[in-house]
Amino acid sequence: MRMTNALVPTLRSVPAEAEIISHQLLLRAGFIRKTAAGMYNYLPLGKRVLTKIENIVREEMDKAGGQEILMPITQPAELWIESGRWNAYGAEMIRLKDRHNREFCLGPTHEEVVTDLVRNEVNSYRQLPLRLYQIQNKYRDERRPRFGLMRGREFVMKDLYSFDRDQAGLDASYKAMYDAYTNVFTRCGLTFRPVEADSGAIGGGYTHEFMVLAENGEATIVYCDNCDYAANIEIAPCAAPKEEVSEEIKEMEKVYTPDSKTIDAVGAYLKVPVEKCIKTLFVQADDELICVLLRGNSELNDVKLKNIHPCDEIEMAEPEAVQAKIGCSFGSLGPVGLKEKGIKIYADLEMKTVVNGICGANEEEYHFINVNVGRDYEVEGYYDLRMMQEGEVCPHCGAVLKQARGIEVGQVFKLGTKYSKAMGATFLDENGKENIIEMGCYGIGVSRTMAAAVEQNYDEDGIIWPKSIAPYQVVIVPVSDKNVEQMAIAEDLYEKMIKEGIEVMLDDRAERAGVKFKDADLIGYPVRITVGKKAAGEGLIEYKLRTEKESSEVALNEVIEKVKKYFAE
Ligand code: ATP
Ligand code: MG
Repeated sequence: MRMTNALVPTLRSVPAEAEIISHQLLLRAGFIRKTAAGMYNYLPLGKRVLTKIENIVREEMDKAGGQEILMPITQPAELWIESGRWNAYGAEMIRLKDRHNREFCLGPTHEEVVTDLVRNEVNSYRQLPLRLYQIQNKYRDERRPRFGLMRGREFVMKDLYSFDRDQAGLDASYKAMYDAYTNVFTRCGLTFRPVEADSGAIGGGYTHEFMVLAENGEATIVYCDNCDYAANIEIAPCAAPKEEVSEEIKEMEKVYTPDSKTIDAVGAYLKVPVEKCIKTLFVQADDELICVLLRGNSELNDVKLKNIHPCDEIEMAEPEAVQAKIGCSFGSLGPVGLKEKGIKIYADLEMKTVVNGICGANEEEYHFINVNVGRDYEVEGYYDLRMMQEGEVCPHCGAVLKQARGIEVGQVFKLGTKYSKAMGATFLDENGKENIIEMGCYGIGVSRTMAAAVEQNYDEDGIIWPKSIAPYQVVIVPVSDKNVEQMAIAEDLYEKMIKEGIEVMLDDRAERAGVKFKDADLIGYPVRITVGKKAAGEGLIEYKLRTEKESSEVALNEVIEKVKKYFAE
């Protein structure tokens, strides 16, 4: 491609809307442009990267026994009603009606459609196992679309579904996909880690997320250097407290606590350690207001809460909802008297150590001291509800865990018979007996992987594409477009490279060399070849890798071999 023919609208300044580096650089380097929140055009360079990632994914899926299909994006409501997810999917689903008023959605995922396909076409054990996949746009009306391609409302996903006759078959499919994912992200040049992940409320299966390690990742992972334990912090189990508290139970008293709206302020005012303060949180679980108690210095892990109090959506309660029910606002809330109001209280395991605790009195500016469970309030039970903190130990080996930020680029999931049972996807075994198919689902965020690659590979000048997914492998920059000899050499090299199958961009614009170098760095071509003064006389060009600061001089007739060798490494 020639730069003079290409649509590569680079920008000098950082677009105000872009908060994270991948979003900024993909906009600035002319890879993407926004049409609406979470929806993007892929410009030519962006599309090339996307296609390269897709092709790596496709090759690895095919190698792992996958067969590519293409299912419709628009899906009939009936299938989702059958699986029980039409209502459960909630506001994230984009719904629409046809001219006959029939309801449809834009597929956020395809378990229903693929299960319907398989139940109609598969009836014998001879047709199993089956691994079907597609690469396609998915639609999720995310609450907060942001960070460019990272969290879109329309995005590209590869989704594979496995169908097996039994648990052993499912285990084999899962293993094949786990290995294929490892190959995909390795080939994309990414530093990543598979971690144990949340499988949702009861009935959920076994699952791993593939996390690209990056500072801007939305997920936190914990991992152990001593053994191979690694998990999303959402599910990392916190050890129950070991300490025994033998303190004499005292009388509960109400005390005036002016201007003490936070745990720290209350602790300071009453001169007690925060571990004695009871953090009382009100949570909206669908239509129900529930209460969670934590020791003052701990944070709620809402995924753990959702797993013990199954519901569609969990959110911190709105102050108005709490005010209406309790008659008091945040800052003076506590568990005493909630039972009478019919509010369920879940306590974190650490709460067992809080004797003679401090909590809000559900009355503005007042707290109770010497509050004790059993006598002053009751709980549904004690559960692991808190977020693991720095310095906590590995549940497998006891070593201190480390934490890192990660971008979830893929997930593998054993579904079991959740969908096949609900939708009647069965097969007859050798004995003519009807069995339910065991399923798994496996997603890769193809467009998110593109953003994740940038998060991991950039410097102050721009993107540094991993070789395997760069939009072009080489850019040729003639120093002066007015120098006829230089231009002829550049053109000749360009033609030869194309013949050799090298993906090359010729920057033939009438721009100063500095401008062309700046764009080359911003766009992030792995190799830059500069055709300058020495090209005609001495037959030398300047060869520079994007990963390195220094360039070297290379003989014109050796450069193609050098490029080929670099990409074969
Ligand atoms: P998240 O927790 O980030 O919302 P998810 O767990 O809901 O993602 P899956 O249903 O597992 O997502 O989808 C498979 C893959 O698709 C994810 O691993 C992720 O890489 C990608 N993905 C999911 N949602 C988005 C999105 N809104 N924009 C871009 N990629 C996404
Ligand atoms: Mg996921």
